Amino acid sequence: MKGFSEWFHTMTLGQTKKYIRLLLWCLLDSFVVSIPYAVMVLAVYVLLIPMSSPGLQLPLDRIWMLVGILAAQFISYLFVRKKSYLDFCIGFVGTTKTSRIEMGEHLRKLSMGFFSSRDAGDLSTVLLRDYSEIENFAQQILPQVATILIRFSLAIVVLSAFDVRMMLAVFIVIPLALPFALISMKRMEKEGELLQTSQQEAAAGILEYVGGIRTLKAFHMAGEHFETLKDTLNRQRQASVNIETKAAAPVSMLGRFVLNCGIGLVMAVGAFLMLKGQLPVFYYIAFLLLTLTIYDPVLSLFTFIADLTRTTRSGRRIRALLEEKPLPEPEKGEIPLGTEIVFKDVSFGYGDKEILHHVNLTFPEKSVTALVGPSGSGKSTITRLIARFWDANSGEVSFGGIPVREMSSEELLKNISMVFQDVYLFQDTIEGNIRMGRSNATHEEVVEAAKKAACHDFIMSLPEGYATMVGEGGSTLSGGEKQRISIARALLKDAPVILLDEATSSLDPENEVLIQQAISALVEDKTVIVIAHRLQSVCNADQIVVLDGGRVTETGTHEQLLTKNGVYAKLWSEQNHAGSWRIK
Ligand code: ADP
Repeated sequence: MKGFSEWFHTMTLGQTKKYIRLLLWCLLDSFVVSIPYAVMVLAVYVLLIPMSSPGLQLPLDRIWMLVGILAAQFISYLFVRKKSYLDFCIGFVGTTKTSRIEMGEHLRKLSMGFFSSRDAGDLSTVLLRDYSEIENFAQQILPQVATILIRFSLAIVVLSAFDVRMMLAVFIVIPLALPFALISMKRMEKEGELLQTSQQEAAAGILEYVGGIRTLKAFHMAGEHFETLKDTLNRQRQASVNIETKAAAPVSMLGRFVLNCGIGLVMAVGAFLMLKGQLPVFYYIAFLLLTLTIYDPVLSLFTFIADLTRTTRSGRRIRALLEEKPLPEPEKGEIPLGTEIVFKDVSFGYGDKEILHHVNLTFPEKSVTALVGPSGSGKSTITRLIARFWDANSGEVSFGGIPVREMSSEELLKNISMVFQDVYLFQDTIEGNIRMGRSNATHEEVVEAAKKAACHDFIMSLPEGYATMVGEGGSTLSGGEKQRISIARALLKDAPVILLDEATSSLDPENEVLIQQAISALVEDKTVIVIAHRLQSVCNADQIVVLDGGRVTETGTHEQLLTKNGVYAKLWSEQNHAGSWRIK
């Protein structure tokens, strides 16, 4: 019972009570819809039988009673159908909408660690397909199953009143056909799992292919990569075919065969009883007609049973995702006192492998700290720990004197602006993209930020200025333009701490000057942490931190580090050498 109530809770997206209330209306609806069938059976009883005996009067009063029942049925049908159909549909669509929004909110709170372990195709399957499955199940299938079961119970009672032997002849084949439904369910489970994996692979493959198409084209690999995608799609097609040919079709055919045998059985038993004079001919006809109306829903019921595993899996995936724990949030978040950031003996790894080892660092308020070091030395990881995308495994990261774990993520992120290399722009207007920095900013404030970030001129040269739509991911803008828009966003946000990832790829000189100008506007009077790839751009920093293999090896100003003659001095001389290279 506990298992069932848990399952029911999952399949109704946690809205069990509301769902039961709506379901009761559906059952009432089904009862009202069944009344004409009952009238049909009564008609056999009260009309045909008297009429078959010569000399008997037509029972007019009974005819009027039946007409009256049908009229009452029609009127109550209108009322109940409105309640059950409209209220149910609207009610449950509302439930899935709320649950989807809750899921969106929940995903927003999950750590970056969670997202790096799941691919986008996997998550979009849950949000799109699993929710549709549940919607379909709760809105269509479950009410139908409940209706069929209620009708069966009524049919057993009514048919028993006529003739128990005939009732048994009608129902006896149903349990015999049940094993086929269960076999189908088992096979569906196995084939369904394969289908699902292939669907997820296909979804991820399509997202990757479309997302990376420019890179693929640039390297003349679009064709080759498409072959891989084609293989994935072929596997998905094969899995869809298998589920029909191996699981659904043979089993439903066998089920249908058994039920057809049932019709034969009812005919034979009825004929036998009629010949022996134990069953009136009109009862016989009524049983034959009702047998047909009973068997069709049985087949639908079997199909539903077979689908049950798939839908249950969808429900479980939704639940599992909702049960993923976000990084723990303090009950009452502390407010930071200033913006000094301190790493105290911090060690961290994304998985089992430790990436940062016992890092001790202080980023003083309103100063510029540059993080330098070879690729993979842990520079980005440090900025991610400041923004609490992950929690340190040991040691403590504090912000304005408060450990970041003790601040609400909202409070922490309010204080930080991040400008990264891989700028993502949303499918929105340019103004909408800049306004993401501060949603309540006025148009004038947006324009002012754009001017400081040196993007006003290029925006004005676009056909619709600030109202120009940006393609998904910012595909219609150049790299330099996207970067400046992201700086405008950060300027608008005006957070006291700026985490900056300097561009690795060299931009054209004009863009470079413009971006430098935009960054200078952004970092003025702020606590700045910049991941520097070119040392020349950071030799004026207040502090330079050199990282190597996840350890801080040197700290100091440019001059201090050069006199130390260590890693920094070596990097500096290497880059200066490289700088003298020119392609003729
Ligand atoms: P840097 O910014 O200095 O190039 P990172 O901080 O990005 O270095 O990376 C440090 C190490 O952590 C690298 O070995 C990198 O492969 C690994 N790493 C970075 N991000 C992840 C992640 N999301 N999951 C697992 N490993 C990661």
